[in-house]
Formats: sequence, structure tokens, C-alpha cells
Amino acid sequence: MYENDYDFTPKVMITNIQRFSLHDGPGIRTTVFLKGCSLRCPWCCNPENIKPDTQKYIKDDTEKVYGTEMTLKELYDEIIKDKDFYAGNISEYNIRNAKDLGNLPGGITFSGGEPLLQIKKMTPLLQKLKDEHIHMSIETSLYADEESLDAALEYIDLFYIDIKSLDKEFCKNILKGDLNRYISNIQAVFNSKKPVVIRIPVIGGYTDEQENRQAIIDFLKASKNANILKIELLKEHDLGKSKYISLGYDTPIYIGVSDKLMEKYCEEMKKTGLEVEICHI
Ligand code: SF4
Repeated sequence: MYENDYDFTPKVMITNIQRFSLHDGPGIRTTVFLKGCSLRCPWCCNPENIKPDTQKYIKDDTEKVYGTEMTLKELYDEIIKDKDFYAGNISEYNIRNAKDLGNLPGGITFSGGEPLLQIKKMTPLLQKLKDEHIHMSIETSLYADEESLDAALEYIDLFYIDIKSLDKEFCKNILKGDLNRYISNIQAVFNSKKPVVIRIPVIGGYTDEQENRQAIIDFLKASKNANILKIELLKEHDLGKSKYISLGYDTPIYIGVSDKLMEKYCEEMKKTGLEVEICHI
């Protein structure tokens, strides 16, 4: 197919395109941050990505705007600039474990916010990237409707999935999400056999309680059908603080998570039989 065969007229709202990224998937990647998220995690480090529309903010005493609307054509032209770094046909790679990730070429990562919220209108772009054998990964909370997940399952090669809490009331009252929808979606990803990296934010006073830790371990142990490459435990941080201030929001306050607890959680998590690592960003 030629470029004109794809309908690149739909528009998406993004906050940033980060080139030469090394932390959002295998190889050298271009990460597209899509604006909008249905959750309200109190520890979110990307508060500028939660509301789906543009937002004014103040930096260096100057008013600026979070959010830019781009057509799929404009987005494609931007992300394809680094195509040389994505070289390699992904259909030639067999991904069975975390070590295989290191052999993959770079590619595109869709992040946010929640990228699934805009993915249906992005399908012409995803089709084009797929036709060019460019590796695509997504960082998702999975709090999105079934059709959006289906679109992702058709095109995305690698899923980075958050597990925050498996407590229904916590999800409803703190995260503002429906745990049943999340469970249904994560089971669909597991059943698809697509490679998955599980990311678990460990946040003092929110997700670090023994009960939640054990519930997540039990859930992963029971997920024998999944193609989980590894688990990353993400220690809380305050790297988003300046963004909260720029938006005039109160900054998040955590009670703190010690390195000792992170090590303990890591040892507990190894009982799943999966590869586990602690990440500090
Ligand atoms: S799911 Fe991610 S982007 Fe959305 S509020 Fe939670 S941390 Fe922020």
C-alpha cells in the first residue's frame, strides 16, 4: 500500500513526542505521549496527560499550553524521522522471555495518559507502521473499553501493563476505575499470548500494603496462560512535581516506601517464578 491509501486525516491530542528514548521498550524508540486518561491515580507523574483537552500552564513566568492536536499524517511524518533506528523486520523475532527483548530493533511506544483512549482513530497509522514492520509497544493501565483493547491487540507487538491494585473499592474510590473492566482486559491480553511486561507502582500508603502485594502475586501466579516476559517494581518518586506546580495543582504526598520494602517485595514476587526487577524511574 502507498501512503495515500491510508486515511491519515483523523486528529489525535498529544503532549509530547520523545525521540531516542531508551526506557520505553526495546532498542532506541520514539515515544508518543497521548493526552487523556480516565483514571485519577493520586501519584500520577504525568498530570498534564490526564485531561483530554489542551491546558494552559506557567513556566518561567510564561504561559504555555499542554497538548497539541496532530493529524495522523503529521504524527507519522514526525515519528518516521528516526526510522533508521527501528531497522529490522519484527516478524523475524521470536519473543519468549526478557532476554529476547534485548534482541529486538527499536520502534514506537505509545504512552500517556492512557493511549487506548485514542487508539481507535489511530488504526490507519498503526496499519501503516505494521505494514512497514516497525515494532510497536504500548504503556497502558488497561482501563478502556473492549473495542479499544481489540484495536491494540490487532496491531501492538508488546504490552507494558500496570497492575496498581486488585481491590474493587480502592479502584472505584481512589483510582476512579472499574476493576471488572480491568480484569476482563488483562485476561484478554493474556489470552492473546502477546508479550507483556508487568509494571507495578509501589506507592507508600496506596499500593504497598501486604494485602495488595499478596493479591497481585496470587493473581500473577494464577495467570499461567500469559506470556509475561518480566515484572518491574516501580518505586514511587516525585519527578512530576514541577508539572503539578506549573498547572497550579497540589503536589502528591506519599508516606514513603523504603528500599528494604522494595527488596522484600522483589523476593516475594520471585515466588511467581517470573523475572523481577526493581526500577527507580
Ligand atoms: S493511569 Fe497513568 S496517566 Fe492515568 S492517572 Fe494513573 S498514572 Fe496517571
